[in-house]
Amino acid sequence: MPFCPKCKSEYISGITICADCDIELVEELLEDEHFPSEFYSLIYTTGNSIEAVMLKDNLDSAGITAYILNQQDRNYQGTNNINLIKVYVASSDASDALEYVESLKNTEINLSLDEENEQE
Ligand SMILES: [Zn+2]
Repeated sequence: MPFCPKCKSEYISGITICADCDIELVEELLEDEHFPSEFYSLIYTTGNSIEAVMLKDNLDSAGITAYILNQQDRNYQGTNNINLIKVYVASSDASDALEYVESLKNTEINLSLDEENEQE
């Protein structure tokens, strides 16, 4: 069931916008419980845990503390196009981190996704 990330109202499926807050609903609130949006920013999502760890390592070495939230359900393992591994940073680091992600995209981090997708 979709939830509003702001007011936490639960909606029936099919609804995508909270009528009260006028913002997009999310499928679950897990990330907000761990990484409330007042303090953290989601900077990257991937289905590849290795990629997430590499990104975190890269950010850490750039002096930006990153946090990985893995919401992959065991039932969905092998379904590679579900991006349920999320990388968060503190909101104050978000713009630096996003810049860093962009620069990585242009260089090395594209790497392993294609090979991963070929595994059945
Ligand atoms: Zn709402």
